[in-house]
Amino acid sequence: MKSGFIEVTILGIAQDGGVPQTGCSCENCISAHINHKLRKSAVSCGVRGIDDSLHLIEVGRNIAEQLNLWSNKMDSKEIRIPDTISITHVHFGHIDGLGQFGKEVMGVRGMPFYASKSSIKNLEKRELLSPFDSLEIDSNDLFYPSIGCGFKLEFIKVPHRDDYSDTHAIIIRGKYRSLLFLPDHDNWIETLEMHECNTIREWFLKLKIDYALIDGTFWDKNELGGRDMTEIPHPTIVETLNRLGKRVKNDVEIFFFHLNHTNPALNTSSKETSIIEALGWKVLTERQVFSL
Ligand SMILES: [Zn+2]
Ligand SMILES: [Zn+2]
Repeated sequence: MKSGFIEVTILGIAQDGGVPQTGCSCENCISAHINHKLRKSAVSCGVRGIDDSLHLIEVGRNIAEQLNLWSNKMDSKEIRIPDTISITHVHFGHIDGLGQFGKEVMGVRGMPFYASKSSIKNLEKRELLSPFDSLEIDSNDLFYPSIGCGFKLEFIKVPHRDDYSDTHAIIIRGKYRSLLFLPDHDNWIETLEMHECNTIREWFLKLKIDYALIDGTFWDKNELGGRDMTEIPHPTIVETLNRLGKRVKNDVEIFFFHLNHTNPALNTSSKETSIIEALGWKVLTERQVFSL
């Protein structure tokens, strides 16, 4: 690529269950069964290095469609296979496409796979890592996923019901700009405390980023009907908006993603989406491309 830019293509914006969610008869899921354009894959992005190498972050079950989408975006005649994989943690929607790389399907061997020590340990136990060369990454490690790719990844630890492994956000640091990929964390109080910051702005400033893709799982606390929201902790978009207020000059660009199938912000013409946009923030969309 001549531009020298790193290209990040958004391959999924939904929470782990995707849209439609299995077994769900809610309005969003039924509409997505009828109109395939409303289907959403679980969060994932593809990073293309300056040397045209490909690096996937998160591997959900729609990986077949996602690799096709990514290849189309790159104007590639063939569906391209990534050169490396990185994951934030081992919850289902972030790893349930890993099996596709094994003997039964793609038969990949020795592909570099980057994750934290506890994530690798957990996935090894589940026998999901045989196609890969797993490489342990510590919190705050900054590394090139391949020689010559022209960008670095940085793992940032965040608190998130760490029942199977710990959880990280990943910063993609290009030559010109950096993007934070933060799909899951429990709440702002603990995350900010962990990073010794008082506000979201202060934290983002400290991280030296230009774009922030952040956990927007739920719009508000009433979203799961009867289900106990304390079992599924995420900061709601309403709370995040209250903390952020209006976007001001020099603020990073913030995009909400990891949206649950129930989230009204999935609908681009909903009142909730317009509330987000009126404050100067955005909802992430699939196929969107960032140049770093
Ligand atoms: Zn998730
Ligand atoms: Zn649903």
